[in-house]
Amino acid sequence: MKVPAVLFEVAPKRPVLVSSAPGRVDFLNTHQDYKGLPVVPIAVNLRTYVAVLEESTLFEVESLNLREEGQEYRDRFGPEPQLLPGRWWGNYLRSCVIALERKAGVKLGKGFKALIYSEVPVGSGLSSSAALEVAFLKALDSFFNLGLSAQELAETAFYAENTVAGIPCGRLDQYASAFGGAILLYPRPPVRVEPLDIGSLDFIVVDSGIRHSVAEIHPRRQAEINQALSLLLSFQDLPPTLREKLAPDYSRARWEEITFDEVKPFLDRLPDRLAKRVAFTILMHESTMRAVDLIKSGSLSRELLAREINVQHELLRDYYDVSLPELEELRRVMMSSGAIAVKISGAGLGGSLFALTGEGVEEKVKVIDSALKAGARKGWPLKPDQGARIEYHI
Ligand code: ADP
Ligand code: MG
Repeated sequence: MKVPAVLFEVAPKRPVLVSSAPGRVDFLNTHQDYKGLPVVPIAVNLRTYVAVLEESTLFEVESLNLREEGQEYRDRFGPEPQLLPGRWWGNYLRSCVIALERKAGVKLGKGFKALIYSEVPVGSGLSSSAALEVAFLKALDSFFNLGLSAQELAETAFYAENTVAGIPCGRLDQYASAFGGAILLYPRPPVRVEPLDIGSLDFIVVDSGIRHSVAEIHPRRQAEINQALSLLLSFQDLPPTLREKLAPDYSRARWEEITFDEVKPFLDRLPDRLAKRVAFTILMHESTMRAVDLIKSGSLSRELLAREINVQHELLRDYYDVSLPELEELRRVMMSSGAIAVKISGAGLGGSLFALTGEGVEEKVKVIDSALKAGARKGWPLKPDQGARIEYHI
């Protein structure tokens, strides 16, 4: 058990149970989940904890993080809650209760008093929202004996954020948090999860502090890919074997079966920008599968992995145009202070960088320090961690 002491210090009585769920880092195949391609997130050793104090007719929850920050930190809602207007933090929890009823037919009938404390930074690309949802659902699962599997936890949390709360997100965050470790996740239903053994591979994440609106990026790239696909399909000399793998819709093309070599001659006839978006999709997936093969065959070395991570960054920068001069400068500083690979983690245009360094704490601290000196907001030395779990139960 590794429950942060603050939960016990603040709690007016000893909790009856404490659940937790990890944040996650976007590791391989960034910007590919919406095309149905498998992605590889890693759950990290920064966790969100939910300490249940006692049964109650309502849910009465407090976020110690928000309390520390002097914000509205309490929420109270019945077992059949509604969402509050605006970006209210408690809506993530309310959505989970609503999702349980809508998805799994579970009527809780009562609530509990609970304290929440999270180590996952908000908005730094480590998915504090999924950690909150999954940890809360894990507490509900244990307290009400629901018997939810990891996949049910993940699907309910995904449904809560995506459908109930209406926040456009993929499944990556919730699956990473529920399952833990590194997973190969095929996000298109029927969703499949393959745990990957990356041993004790450790890494760092640096938050650049740059926040550009990325809301536009997804629809814009999706439209570009659709345009490219329509143009490709209009070529009369397209081989039927390639034609049948394409579709006018980015989410329906059978990307995994398309090789770069077979599509390359036709990409040369597209406008450069559109050709790059398609090339990105195929090359990024090929790089990911090379890395996954290394992991599965047990021949993973930092150097080989570093090569793929750098390839993925270059694809994000040169073929998907989601880097920025400031991010490139930060990356350069990190590489020259000992990182062997650095890539954009998340949608890009700011946000966080993922980096591999040599083993050892000093190496990581050195890279983080130089990133901070170069203007980064924060950095974390991280390692893989378990998925949602019960830390403690009376
Ligand atoms: P992230 O990338 O960190 O998931 P999001 O914008 O998706 O960023 O989710 C962050 C939101 O999740 C916060 O604004 C807040 O509403 C909620 N949240 C996350 N952690 C906590 C916490 N410990 N206490 C209260 N709310 C939290
Ligand atoms: Mg989130």
